Formats: sequence, C-alpha cells, structure tokens
Amino acid sequence: MATTLAEEVEKMRYSQLQEWELAKVNYDNLRTVKTKKFVIDSIPMIVQFNPKRITSSAAKVDSKSIQERKCFLCPGNLPEQQKGIDFMGKYLVLVNPFPIFPKHLTIPGYKHEPQQIKGKITDMLELAYSLQDYVFFYNGPKCGASAPDHLHFQAGNKGFLPMEKDFDSFKKENIVLKSNIQISLLAEYPCSTFIMESEDILLIDEYFNKIDDALEIKTGEYEPMMNVLVWYSQDRYKLCFFPRVKHRPSCFFEEGENNILISPASVDMGGVFITPLEKDFDKIKEEDVSKIIWEVCLDKASLQKIADQLNA
Ligand SMILES: [Zn+2]
Repeated sequence: MATTLAEEVEKMRYSQLQEWELAKVNYDNLRTVKTKKFVIDSIPMIVQFNPKRITSSAAKVDSKSIQERKCFLCPGNLPEQQKGIDFMGKYLVLVNPFPIFPKHLTIPGYKHEPQQIKGKITDMLELAYSLQDYVFFYNGPKCGASAPDHLHFQAGNKGFLPMEKDFDSFKKENIVLKSNIQISLLAEYPCSTFIMESEDILLIDEYFNKIDDALEIKTGEYEPMMNVLVWYSQDRYKLCFFPRVKHRPSCFFEEGENNILISPASVDMGGVFITPLEKDFDKIKEEDVSKIIWEVCLDKASLQKIADQLNA
C-alpha cells in the first residue's frame, strides 16, 4: 500500500527529532515552556514565553539585511542534517527547528521567489487537505515572515491555536451565504478577520482575491499586509484572512520599561502570543495584548466596509 504524505511527514518528523540535535533540543525545551492564559474580548487566548523565537521576532527584514544574509530556505543552504518531503514538485515539507507548536513545519517553495500569496492560496489549501492534522499559515513579508524573500508557509498541529480549536464556538455574522461557500466575520474575536468555509478550493481562491483586491497596498510593497490561516475539517476548507495595517506595534520600538518585544504574525492572530523575552512575558497584561491587536490589525469599521462590498 502506498504511503500517504501525512505518513511520510510523520516518519520524517520522528527521525529528524532523533538525528538532528538542534531540533531535538528545541522540541524538548518546548515541553516546559511557560504560558499564561488571558481572556480578550471574551475569547480565551494564550501568551507563550519562547526564547528560541527571538531570531524570528527580532528578525531584520529590511532589504539591505535580507540581501546581506544567505537565504535559509533555499534548498542548497539547508543544514546538512535537515531532511524534507516533496509536495507536488513545488514545495519541500521541513521540520521547523524553532517550534511554537509541538509539531511545527516549514514549507518553502523550491524556487527563491518573494513571499507573495496571490495565486498560491490553492497550494495552501491542497496542503491542508493532504495534511489534515495541521493548520497552515502564511505571514506576509511585513507581517511576521522572517524570510520575506523566499515563498513559504508554515504549519502547526491542530488543537493548539484557539482560532482553530474553539472555531465552532465563535459567533459568526454571515456576509456571504451561498450553498457552496460561507463567508463571515467574527463578532467577538479581537483580531479583525474574514472567515471562509467551503468544499470548493477555487471558490475560496476567488473570494480571497476579491478581499485581497479591496485592500490597500502600501507604497513600496507588492501585496496588502496580511496573515492567513487555513485548515481542513468536517469536509470543508476553513480560511481566516487577517488584514493588517502595521508590521510591529509601537511597544516594539519603545525604550526601557515600555518596551515589549512582540512581532505579531499568524500564530498571534490565531490566539497564541509569543514573547521571546522573559521580562515581557512576566509583565504583559491583557490590555497590552488588546492594544497590540488594535494597533496592527485593520479596524473593524474598515473590515465592515469590505464585507459590504463582498455582499453587494
Ligand atoms: Zn531562498
């Protein structure tokens, strides 16, 4: 019997954790990572103190810094011990050596091309179908990606992100309700997001592009700022589109006591806030998280405006 992609990935993950010291140590450490629970706008969220994520959270992603470093996602530059599994001849499924999730993958394309989602949503949905135990995420080049110059997705095991885990309990306001697709806003969820649910990959792609087209592209950039989460469950694809207005909150740049090193990405939008520094983990309060979300996400009035256009 042919092995499925899910079986191959599980086998690869297992052997990487045996044979690759860096990954082994970091996954072992993740088991004892400190977390605390918050309730933001009635939604339970988590803060995770994860020192290994400092490279990603504090990554210099300006074009000069990017040009001066060797791309760590190009197949030719991967560490000798890192092994991957092919997906559709286009992507390599890898174990992420700096995990947030107990199972955490990075999925770079083979080609060194900029991080850009348009035209790639269907690939992301195909991945979600092939690896149904995972939630896939896309961080825009100015929204948490530490390799904005190399197209990639990441994935983490289900049952971890509040957005996916508690999805069925969220109150949804439908904006498009057809027999083959449902698009909604979440009334209570703190981060502005469009939710799409459908069995049809192409329909999701079509509506994704409509939202993408309705959003502003900032000067010098090539796509609207965003984070995207995708998974497959109950015979349907689920997609959360988080439009963003800011890369990093003002507290990231503050000096002294007011500094909080947090660089929000898909995982944070999904309800797990990553603080790589212990001083931030200890002091961060619910109102800080609220303020950060409010600062980096598209405001709810603008979200509603786009929703009205979709519905027209
Ligand atoms: Zn590259």
